[in-house]
Amino acid sequence: MPIKESNYWLESVPEPAKGSAGPLPASVDVAIVGGGFCGLSAARTLAKRGVPVALLEAETFGWGASSRNGGMVLTGMKLPVPTLIRRYGREAVQRMYAASLESIDLVEKIIREENIDCHFSRCGHLEVACKQAHFNAYTEAAAQIQREFHHELRIVPKSELRAEIGSDIYFGGMVDETSTGLNPAQYVSGLAKAAQRAGASLFDHARVLRVSPQLIAGNRTFRVETPRGNLTAKEVILASGAYTTGATPALRKKIIPIGSFIIATEVLDEDLARELSPRNRQIHDSKNYLFYYRLTPDNRMLFGGRAAFFPETDQTIRKSAEILRLGMIDVYPQLRDTKVEYVWGGTLDFCFDIMPHAGQIDGVHFAVGYAGHGVAMATYQGQKMAEWIAEGKTDNPFAEIAFPGAPFGLYNGKPWFLPFAGAYYKVLDWVS
Ligand SMILES: Cc1cc2nc3c(=O)[nH]c(=O)nc-3n(C[C@H](O)[C@H](O)[C@H](O)COP(=O)(O)OP(=O)(O)OC[C@H]3O[C@@H](n4cnc5c(N)ncnc54)[C@H](O)[C@@H]3O)c2cc1C
Repeated sequence: MPIKESNYWLESVPEPAKGSAGPLPASVDVAIVGGGFCGLSAARTLAKRGVPVALLEAETFGWGASSRNGGMVLTGMKLPVPTLIRRYGREAVQRMYAASLESIDLVEKIIREENIDCHFSRCGHLEVACKQAHFNAYTEAAAQIQREFHHELRIVPKSELRAEIGSDIYFGGMVDETSTGLNPAQYVSGLAKAAQRAGASLFDHARVLRVSPQLIAGNRTFRVETPRGNLTAKEVILASGAYTTGATPALRKKIIPIGSFIIATEVLDEDLARELSPRNRQIHDSKNYLFYYRLTPDNRMLFGGRAAFFPETDQTIRKSAEILRLGMIDVYPQLRDTKVEYVWGGTLDFCFDIMPHAGQIDGVHFAVGYAGHGVAMATYQGQKMAEWIAEGKTDNPFAEIAFPGAPFGLYNGKPWFLPFAGAYYKVLDWVS
């Protein structure tokens, strides 16, 4: 059977959330651009506070990264703690780290409150060291995280690694029991239905073509144009992530869209699945050009990575399937004869400083830059932006840091430099 070039997770959502068929309202308090975790979380929060809100999604709810990801709900941020502290200072980073833990609790709370059936499990995550030097650095990293954030990580020496992973290629590991796993397509669909139940108006197939400020009776509002009609909003939230287009050019120029790809095997038998991942961890390795992998709830091996740096096209998806399969059997020779049944790709939203950002740009609110840590952080940022609009103030630590654009401004949203960046990170993985 040929590999299906489609997102495995979507098959587990028999009744995806559907948008309103009717016309857009003429005016709302808040218009949200994008219906992934971030936009839907903002819509749910605003609607629960009684704020009239319309969410406009170009495709279907969760169509972007939110249904395509690995479903790993991870603690911390992409950058190492020493780099963060050097850049932002101890107190700011303590608040950011606390926000990352709070974001996981928030996902859990929403899932419980809204009864979202999405296989949420506090199974923990395991980082595995590709080199002895990477493993040696774990001890200091764990001590620092305990000292600065009172958060416990457990070091696993190579001699004990078989209790965590059925692979012998790594030099040891580090476990964080707080991280969780879920089925992202079920979660995002549940979030959309929860926002609708709370009273938010959600529109799919409603691509925003332009957002422009206008004055009505002396008050600043925004005109939001779509092929389904236009609306006027007092406030706008941009939650379009890596899929941000020229409709909002100022934000697009700040985002680097980077491809990430995933394969899923056929269903494994229970014994093999337990051998590969005895504690059902969410796993990633220690490289820059990393692999991330986990079992799905029905015991497939889901294996992802930045196999091609460019965003998904038919070509990059097909090429990635073979690169990822080879990577998978390098980690797990046991899967040499296992069939790969699915391959798909998605686009990650990186900012130039590899940090999440929230704030206002051209008068509209935005949150972006989750860099592969977006399941919980996008949910959190959506809620934070909604609270900011409703209360007129925010304590969001990611709204306080500078939001850099491209060096020398040489960027219009088309990432011409990705092949060079990809080569740079590959070299870095050889030498460090
Ligand atoms: C392959 C892959 C694996 C990943 N794995 C993980 C993981 O395991 N753990 C983790 O934490 N994170 C992971 N991520 C990252 C995570 O999925 C994202 O950070 C998160 O989903 C971002 O959510 P969002 O709501 O900001 O954006 P998205 O979910 O991308 O939603 C943006 C939406 O905006 C819409 N849109 C764009 N422009 C317009 C417009 N003009 N008008 C209307 N709508 C518009 C798009 O159609 C899209 O649906 C992964 C991402 C990918 C691609």
